[in-house]
Amino acid sequence: IIDIKHLQKHFGDLQVLNDVDFNVDKGEVVTVIGSSGSGKSTLLRCINLLEIPDGGEIVFEGQDIRSLGNKVSKYRAKVSMVFQSFNLFNNMNVLDNCTIGQVKVLGRDKKTAQEKAMKHLKQVGMAEFANADSTRLSGGQKQRVAIARALAMDPEVLLFDEPTSALDPEMVGDVLDVMKDLAAQGLTMVIVTHEMQFAREVSDRVIFMDKGVIAEQGTPEEIFGNPKQERTQQFLSRYS
Ligand code: ATP
Ligand code: MG
Repeated sequence: IIDIKHLQKHFGDLQVLNDVDFNVDKGEVVTVIGSSGSGKSTLLRCINLLEIPDGGEIVFEGQDIRSLGNKVSKYRAKVSMVFQSFNLFNNMNVLDNCTIGQVKVLGRDKKTAQEKAMKHLKQVGMAEFANADSTRLSGGQKQRVAIARALAMDPEVLLFDEPTSALDPEMVGDVLDVMKDLAAQGLTMVIVTHEMQFAREVSDRVIFMDKGVIAEQGTPEEIFGNPKQERTQQFLSRYS
């Protein structure tokens, strides 16, 4: 569903992504692990067009995303990103957060959008907070609302950039449980995470990034059980 070839991105003199080839199949759950600064966020941000690649190509369902023109918002509904810092609209309640994109980007009428929002708020266990002020929620609650907001757009792919890194430890489990449910439902997901146990459980494929390249990839059994590259072994030894 996503096909990336020879992706290049640099900031000044720093080559952050160096000839990255990366595919995601429909229904696949891919986790991306690697040290700080290895380019994980930049890879997701390029896929979501929050960064413009310097070279290579990113093809989504057969279309090169550089040629989207004014369809970028619609593309971001289909390939939707969930951020570490939630990025909720703070001046809106929970329901409006989950409704506005559907109305503005997808052209749904308000009632349809609200029903759809409620369905997904229920799915993440946040329906009773529909009318709550989004600034008053805990981090874990905000993140579940952010996931419901993304789901309400009927995404083809969900991108997660360290969705639990900003959470208090007791909130992490709730968010990971929601993500496990989505994986079980067959949603296509690319997840940057430092939660190795979770990655082991949900991934179809694990990507290990190091210094702007994919150093190794494989099944969770291969990567966690029997990593071939020394740098993968070194990275993982910090988690055991
Ligand atoms: P982390 O685990 O800390 O989130 P990461 O693997 O997500 O790390 P990136 O955020 O992709 O890493 O950053 C890769 C490198 O690019 C880092 O050295 C970072 O400082 C640099 N970088 C990222 N964004 C920018 C930017 N907008 N301008 C300049 N440098 C940047
Ligand atoms: Mg990052």
